[in-house]
Amino acid sequence: MSLPQRLPLVEEGHESEDVVIIPIGSVSDGDKSTWPTEARFGMPDDSSYREKLAMLWLQKIGTYEEGMRYMLNRLPDGYALFDRPRGTDPTIRDRFLWGHPIGQYFPSILQFFPHFYHLMTGAAGPCHCMLCDKVAKREQGSVLLQYFTFKPFR
Ligand SMILES: [Zn+2]
Repeated sequence: MSLPQRLPLVEEGHESEDVVIIPIGSVSDGDKSTWPTEARFGMPDDSSYREKLAMLWLQKIGTYEEGMRYMLNRLPDGYALFDRPRGTDPTIRDRFLWGHPIGQYFPSILQFFPHFYHLMTGAAGPCHCMLCDKVAKREQGSVLLQYFTFKPFR
């Protein structure tokens, strides 16, 4: 065979080193005071997290181009990636995103994404991420409680 050998333009794991940096807006509800303080928590490099988040975002708004690499310039203010050894296997470190005002973490990028999108679209209206849903349910619960507590007897 004397055909010229051609490498595929995009080979898995060998993409161009060029990364398009996507600057994010300043709207954030992140709260540093919710971050974990125990010594077992570490702060890993968050570049792969910012890359995945950028990809989801650009896919959502329709400007993602196949074969390109994108990365957010930073995480929203008050949010940060932490890791800690897994209880059942300490050689594995699980990653969590902290900073949501409710004081709990997002266990994955996919679960953080709706909240991230909410922030990037100006944080107007209700957010339906897993943690904001918890807040909404709590509030709904306390409204119901008031309703039942103060319902007049007939
Ligand atoms: Zn949310």
